[in-house]
Amino acid sequence: MTDCIFCDIIAGQTPATVIYEDEVAIAFMDIQPINPGHLLVIPKVHATYLADMDEATGAHLFAVAMRLAAAVRRSGLRCEGIDLFLADGAEAGQEIFHVHLHVIPRFQGDGFGFRFGPNYRIRPPRADLDQAGARIRAELN
Ligand SMILES: [Zn+2]
Repeated sequence: MTDCIFCDIIAGQTPATVIYEDEVAIAFMDIQPINPGHLLVIPKVHATYLADMDEATGAHLFAVAMRLAAAVRRSGLRCEGIDLFLADGAEAGQEIFHVHLHVIPRFQGDGFGFRFGPNYRIRPPRADLDQAGARIRAELN
């Protein structure tokens, strides 16, 4: 056992309902599903945050999630839409500190959703967008 529940699942030391596995990623049922069919896709190499994972692995997680989303839609489980969601950091809602991409079946009236802050409807002036964009652009490399 490690101090990471997801690494324990990868090692087969904690039970999980595994749906998919390859050399890079594994996907299993979330034990606390938002809706039935809620899956998690994780890298097999431990990465706490997005920044700890290489881009190829991230791209692979997304590719697996796309295939799982299509399978969920065909499965007969109630699914009128899919959310792909990844929380990077506690403040973003991350609770298990091993990168995981949620595949969440959604349907009308399921009660789940994003909650927007009080200023969400106020559109910032273009200058604010330009300034924030310039700061981000300067950090791309
Ligand atoms: Zn881990």
